[in-house]
Amino acid sequence: LLADDGHVRATIFAEMSALAAATGSVNLGQGFPDVDGPASVAQAAADAIAAGHNQYPPGPGIPELRRAVAAHQERHYGLSPDPDREVLVTAGATEALAAAVLALAGPGDEVLTLEPFYDAYGAVIALAGATHTTAPLRATPGGFRLDVDALAAAFSDRTRLVLLNTPHNPTGTVLTPDELAAVARLAVAHDAVVVTDEVYEHLVLDPGVRHMPVATLPGMAERTLTVSSAGKTFSFTGWKIGWVSGPEDLVTAVRTVKQFLTYVSGAPFQPAVAFALDDPGVAAWVRDLATSLASRRDRLCDGLTAAGFEVVRPQGTYFVLADAAPLGFDDGATLCRELPALAGVVGVPVTAFTHAGSDVDRALRSWVRFTFVKRDEVLDEAVARLSRLR
Ligand code: PMP
Ligand code: GLN
Repeated sequence: LLADDGHVRATIFAEMSALAAATGSVNLGQGFPDVDGPASVAQAAADAIAAGHNQYPPGPGIPELRRAVAAHQERHYGLSPDPDREVLVTAGATEALAAAVLALAGPGDEVLTLEPFYDAYGAVIALAGATHTTAPLRATPGGFRLDVDALAAAFSDRTRLVLLNTPHNPTGTVLTPDELAAVARLAVAHDAVVVTDEVYEHLVLDPGVRHMPVATLPGMAERTLTVSSAGKTFSFTGWKIGWVSGPEDLVTAVRTVKQFLTYVSGAPFQPAVAFALDDPGVAAWVRDLATSLASRRDRLCDGLTAAGFEVVRPQGTYFVLADAAPLGFDDGATLCRELPALAGVVGVPVTAFTHAGSDVDRALRSWVRFTFVKRDEVLDEAVARLSRLR
């Protein structure tokens, strides 16, 4: 959590968005859409404010939203959490993940994540006083893939939690059934709980690729907490409505911690998200979002390739990893600090998602993450500017 000067460091997203604003750069760093979600969902929130949903909602979340989350898990995945005992509404996925780690891991425990990993994981594992171990994703011709032998080697008798993420930020990988089966087998063998971050569950970009929740694998429902949120699915990242579902004892543990983090949040947004999860018109909007993101992915990947980067085309999320080494840049962190001046574009160094000095950190040292959840003209402008790097 501490920078070299001893101060608590700012998240990479805050740092890079501030840099983009200060320099007038095209911001392909922090992942947030530049077009809001469905007007009907925004209207539902406005209606909820007008109808007086403005005081503390119930601790576990309003019943309509818990029911809508349970129905969503049933409809898409055949999972059937009890909305009253096995679903908890949180302040975004971030709080669900933080409360889960704080509830279930402490000093002496190991929490195993993929590497690279979303930056909040490292921070919350540190806050819990637990030890952070990782299993590498490696760039292959078929995309970033889990090194299953290294995964097996990363487990120990102290592995208390596996903090999984699919579709995966920052690589855009969607874990395959075989990769998930390996995680499940090892989690069972080591009696570890799996916390799975599935906030990009609906942002899968290729027809042949499917998101599979690890909780649907045999023997996993009883040891898995599944986390998601409204931010990515409905393009309302600022609303911070998330949820976690799983077995009652684990959800109760998360709720116990959650009470003292935020207690509750987002009263008028909860009914709006319940509406969004239930409404067929909104579901069609989400499918269109995924289709449009696939074309924006191709637009940015093709543009980055033409500009001289080497890219690994992602299967999901709204991020692409691009290697700047072919352009002569061997340090992504330095490049990202200089990129506003060099080209008027902001990206995020992939080493913000690695452990300093790890083999993944070394392998991805020259890589930059760019988001493509921006309008076509913004992507085109970014590519035109990046083409000057050659
Ligand atoms: N997990 C991942 C992998 C993310 O990329 C993000 C950021 N959008 C979050 C969690 C945070 O989600 P929320 O905004 O719902 O807290
Ligand atoms: N999840 C978003 C990203 O990876 C940003 C979230 C944040 O700013 N903490 O870019």
